[in-house]
Formats: sequence, structure tokens, C-alpha cells
Amino acid sequence: SIPLGYFGGIGGASRNGILIKGGNFIEALKQVDTVVFDKTGTLTKGRFHIKEILVEKDYNDKEVLEIAAHVEYFSNHPIAQSIVETYSNEIDESKVSNLKELSGKGIKAQFDKKDVLVGNKKLMKDSEINIPNINQNGTNIYVAIEGKYVGTIIITDELKSDTKKGIELLKKMGISKLVMLTGDHKNIAENIGKEVGIDEVYSELLPHEKVEKLELIIDNHKSSGKIMFVGDGINDAPVLARADIGVAMGGLGSDAAIESADVVLMTDEISKISMAIRISKYTNKIVW
Ligand code: ADP
Ligand code: MG
Repeated sequence: SIPLGYFGGIGGASRNGILIKGGNFIEALKQVDTVVFDKTGTLTKGRFHIKEILVEKDYNDKEVLEIAAHVEYFSNHPIAQSIVETYSNEIDESKVSNLKELSGKGIKAQFDKKDVLVGNKKLMKDSEINIPNINQNGTNIYVAIEGKYVGTIIITDELKSDTKKGIELLKKMGISKLVMLTGDHKNIAENIGKEVGIDEVYSELLPHEKVEKLELIIDNHKSSGKIMFVGDGINDAPVLARADIGVAMGGLGSDAAIESADVVLMTDEISKISMAIRISKYTNKIVW
């Protein structure tokens, strides 16, 4: 039977916007010694600002944004939503056909009956499209038409206001192993890692590679402590499911994430992670 105190813990957590799906996760939470984070939408807000649009000769930034916004209109990735919001004209859905989203890479489609690609370096590489070297801080979304590079949308995301504090609180609790897994570019990932105090950073990972990385972390884990993964469920739902404890962002996250997670943070705050662990420790003290 489940001690009554467990329900107290779940209730206490839920009053703080932390949904814990069952008493066994209360037990597991107090044993967490490793926390693995997704980046976009988890440590960062996942609301991108367009910093600059670079274009090739014969193209202008409006055309590049028009193509990107039209194909991104059909994606629920945070990058896509930000691009669509920036585009001020109406979206003409009939201009888009044969759309295929390649997770962790971007989108392939036809726009105005021309083949277009909107996505990262990996997407361009797959189609053997040459892209320029860009020395700008930000995530680069490349646009190609009929197999030719035409422009880059440089976007930036920002940290959630409590990310640094949230990481500090975890360190204070003695959780020493903190890891970041991201599909984003190496430079950006490492800068954010430095800024927030996570020094184990794995970048440019496709969704299935995130799962493989987590499995490697599990295999190499020497202690009996639990491994937690925190994500928003966009391109990381399988990782959420694989961890001992999957924590999903409830506000920004996808429905799939909320369903496959063991713990849901309704307010998306990183500082709620240490609170969840504290509540579980407290609850366990009362029970025993
Ligand atoms: P993270 O691991 O940081 O949460 P994702 O795995 O969701 O990021 O995405 C990784 C990268 O894949 C993004 O940084 C972007 O370059 C590219 N990408 C994914 N989806 C899209 C999209 N809809 N449009 C453009 N680029 C995309
Ligand atoms: Mg993400």
C-alpha cells in the first residue's frame, strides 16, 4: 500500500505547479543525482527573435522570409512559430505543397511550385547545397530554392529568467552531474552551457542521437542514483520516456511530452526542478 504522505507530497507539489504522476516518482525524485537538459524551450524560452536576414545577390530579405514563413507555418517547432510571427503578411497556404518536416533539420517543401529547403546546416548538407560561413552569434536557418542557397535567417533565443538560479539550486543540493543535449549548433550550445554552468554539452544531435546519448549516460552511470531528463517534448519526447524521470515543460511543451513525462512543470521554470526534489525528500522524511 502507498503511505498517505505520498499524496501529501503530490498535492504539495501540484499547488506549486509541479504535477507528479504517481507516488513512485516521489520516491525516485529524492534519488536523482544526474540531470540532463534539452536546450531549446527548456533552458531557453524557445521564442526566437530574428536578428538579421542575409541574402544572396538577386534576392531580398522579404522573399527569403516569405518562403520560410510559408513552409514553417506547417511546423510546431518553436523556431517555426517565431518565423511565422515575424512575417507580417498573410500566409497563402495554397502556395505550399509536398511538405516534409525532417526533425532536427528543418523542412523540405514546394513553394510556388519550386523546391525549397528551410533548415540547418545538416539539411543543406543532405542536399549538397553550399552555404556560406557565417560569423554571427545566433542559430542560422538557411533557405534554398531549386537546389541553390539564397539566404540565411539569423535568429536568437534567450535564457529563461530563472535558468541560472535553477541550475545553481541543483548544484547546491549536491547534484553534480548536469548535462545538456541539443540539436543546435556547437558554438551556441557551448556558450549557453558556459553561461548557465553546465559543462557537459552535446550538440548537433538528431532526435534519435539524443536518445543514444542518454542511453550512454545511463550505461556509464556508476551510482544507484536516478537520471532525470528535462525537455519540452519538441524533438525530445523519446528521451523523456527513456529517462528514470522525464520532466516536461507543461506550458510550452507538446501534448505528447506531457503524456510521456513523469513530472510536468506547469510554469516551465527550471527552479521548479529543485523544488520537486526538495518536496520528495521532505515527503519521504515524514513517511519514514
Ligand atoms: P533543441 O535540441 O535545442 O531543443 P531541436 O532538436 O528541436 O533543438 O532542433 C535542432 C535544430 O534543428 C534547430 O536548432 C534547427 O537548426 C533545426 N530545426 C528543427 N526544426 C526546424 C524547423 N522547423 N525549421 C528550421 N530548423 C529546424
Ligand atoms: Mg527542445
